Parts: sequence; structure tokens; C-alpha cells
Amino acid sequence: MRRTILAGAALAGVLVATGLAGTAVAAPDAAPAACSPTRTPASFRACIATATAAYTQLWQPLLAAHGSTTGSPAVSIYTGVPLNPCFDATVGDVVEASFWCDRNETVYVSAPASPYWTRDYAREAKAQGILAADARRVHRSQKRLLAGFANQGAATELAHELGHWVQYATGIDAYYLQKSQGTGRLAERYGSAFELAADCMAGWVQGRAAASGAWRNTAVLRWASHATIAELGGDLSGMRPHFRFPRETTVIAHGGPYSRLRLYDAGWALGASAADGVTGCAQAAADYTRTEPPPVSSRSARR
Ligand SMILES: [Zn+2]
Repeated sequence: MRRTILAGAALAGVLVATGLAGTAVAAPDAAPAACSPTRTPASFRACIATATAAYTQLWQPLLAAHGSTTGSPAVSIYTGVPLNPCFDATVGDVVEASFWCDRNETVYVSAPASPYWTRDYAREAKAQGILAADARRVHRSQKRLLAGFANQGAATELAHELGHWVQYATGIDAYYLQKSQGTGRLAERYGSAFELAADCMAGWVQGRAAASGAWRNTAVLRWASHATIAELGGDLSGMRPHFRFPRETTVIAHGGPYSRLRLYDAGWALGASAADGVTGCAQAAADYTRTEPPPVSSRSARR
């Protein structure tokens, strides 16, 4: 679940449930998977299906190593109010960003939110005078960056939500939930650790996918993922070229762009080096938030 960002997101439409389990993943020697750089309803659905298959396949061996018997999550793309057993989506902001629902083991992917992340990051970078530097670095025009990469943005948001699935599948979500109960700074820090660990896991799975050849790895795709994580962090004031942000004095809730990018990048490095993204990200988030990491099982089945 995410913070409010979109105002007036289109609520009309229908809930589209997609059966993504069993979607084929390219063999290691095949061309790396990717999302189309141009968003259409069809390319968006294909992108989410491809990313779900690639990411869950990379997580499965680790989940098995940690004793999880949880199967692959369901993924549901929504364009209207996402009817679900976790939240009353007719109130509040839940319809405006993708979210994980543990009660039916489903990631709900927001189609209306998908164009927003990369496009609005680019607009803000333009306003703050740094988009030209970003564009030079990724060999694209500013105009192209301003048009956004909705599919890769949605795949990155999906990767975060699948981090919550991994936390659920390994049983560590209950630890964070229990520790973040109540009020006070320590409880808040555990809430942030839960979210920042999911950012780390998003980085892990995308770094692992890039390093293993499962996913195309280009500068502009990395730009789109970073732009998405930064935009999800909310306050983009004080940005400098190449995703450098001022550090927050206090990490609140999901964390700001500095914290979220830092944990995402830490996860990417863990994934690229084939380190354990479950324990590695739990530890990285704990270190960053000055909390104790959750106990992670290495053998016993959870359920
Ligand atoms: Zn989250």
C-alpha cells in the first residue's frame, strides 16, 4: 500500500483479473525480457505478465531455501475501484497506487498510476534544471524522458509489491506488523524498515534479473526504475543530477527519495552479486532504520 500521490485518478473502468501463473519465462540463453517502451493497454498487460513471471521465478529458489511453501502470487491489473479483501478501496487513496493483499495473495497493479511515476519525475527534473544531465547520461532526449516509461515504471512498482509477497511468504511480515504496532518512534522505524526492505527487494530482483540476463539492462531502463522509486518517495525538492537527493533528517513511513533510492540500490547490488535478497534486504533495512532484523527461517516450512 502506498501514500497518496495521484489526485483525481480515473476511477471508471473495470477490474481486470489476469491469470499470470504459468506465464513462460525466457530461457537464460534467449533474448532478455523487457517491457515495451511504449505503453498501450496490451503492452502494459504484457509487461506486467512478463515482469511477474521473471521476478517470481528469481525469488522462488530463495523462498524454497527459506522453507516457504507459498505459491506464486496472483496479479490483478485494475483500472477502476479494485475490489479486494484487504482494503475498502471506495474510500481513501488505495486505488491510486499498486498494493499487495495478503488475504488473497494478490498484487493489485494500478493501470491509472502507471504513467505517472517516470513522467512526473521527468517534469520535476526539468523544472529543477537537471533533466538535461539525466538525458545525456541515458542517451535520450529530454522530450523522450518527459514522455515517460509507464511500463518500466509499473514493473518497478510491481517489484516493490512482490517484495511484500516475499515478506509474507517467508513469514517476516508478521514480525514487522507486530513491531510497528502502536505509537512512538521505534514503532514508526519498524514500519519504515518493512517498506524500505521491500524497496531493497525491488532492487534485488531487478539487479538479479539484469545480472542473470533475464531482463534487458540499459541505462534508460535503470533511469526509469530510479525515477519511479524517487517519485514514490514523494518530496522531490533539492534533487541533483543522477538521482542524488538530500538525506531526510527523519525517515517517515515509506521514506523519502534519498532513503528509498539508497535501499533500492543496496538491493540491486545484492541481486547483481547473487546474494540472498531475503536476509540481505532485511538486514539492510534494519541497519538503515536502526531496528532489529526479523528472524528468517532457513529450513522450516511456514505453512
Ligand atoms: Zn510497500
